[in-house]
Amino acid sequence: MTFCEIIEAGCREWGLPVTREALDRMERFSDLLIEKNRVMNLTAVTEPEEIALRHMLDCLFLLTCTDFTGKNVLDIGCGPGFPTMPLKCYDPKLNITPLDSTAKRIRFLEESCRDLGIPITPVTGRAEEFIQKKGVRESYDIVVSRAVAPLNVLAELCLPYVKIGGYFLPLKTKNDAGDQELEQGRSAIRALGGKLEGTKEYAIRGVDAPHQVLIIRKAAPCPGQYPRRFARISANPL
Ligand code: SAM
Repeated sequence: MTFCEIIEAGCREWGLPVTREALDRMERFSDLLIEKNRVMNLTAVTEPEEIALRHMLDCLFLLTCTDFTGKNVLDIGCGPGFPTMPLKCYDPKLNITPLDSTAKRIRFLEESCRDLGIPITPVTGRAEEFIQKKGVRESYDIVVSRAVAPLNVLAELCLPYVKIGGYFLPLKTKNDAGDQELEQGRSAIRALGGKLEGTKEYAIRGVDAPHQVLIIRKAAPCPGQYPRRFARISANPL
């Protein structure tokens, strides 16, 4: 199967309509990623078909978890653009802010979006520091994050940004280690005003363990002392 066929088939299985233009944008972004990856370490996945499965489809599953239309979304630790780019290629009108602490990854993202003609305003910064910017605390409808930190640490980086009634949707692996991570993350979720409403599991062809999106609703305000400095978060997770 080609890159586009893989994505089309996956989206069809999940009931997500996908346009030709969206597929073309995803394929172009994948080409840019592969090209840049030759001179800069952006991803361990280097074949187009693998990028379609492990990066694009994996992140597109988020669209089955809640309605993203008209929502204000934050992607914490986006790296070279995941989940931001699959979602933005799928719908260029999506209002998503990618944030990462590594400037070279954000530069790649800016260059790629310019090439694709997609508007985007990425942020270079650390999640626990960007929260000091006026107006961002508890202001996002949805916060997404993939492969950044264990849940008990990630929750403190992400939940302070989610508005009451909004969602924090981390992508995680569904296996024994993932189950243990979820158990260890429960108290942090509660302490930060979150409520785990459920999980949505899915399989990606060729990927050993199933993946899951945790559906965490922001049910109460996050106490003002969070997030703490990163050293404290990781040394003493909630
Ligand atoms: N989310 C992307 C993906 O799924 O391919 C990138 C994952 S990469 C393994 C983790 C990324 O998180 C890195 O780009 C790193 O710079 C970023 N990161 C780690 N801690 C962060 C923090 N506290 N604030 C912002 N970005 C952070």
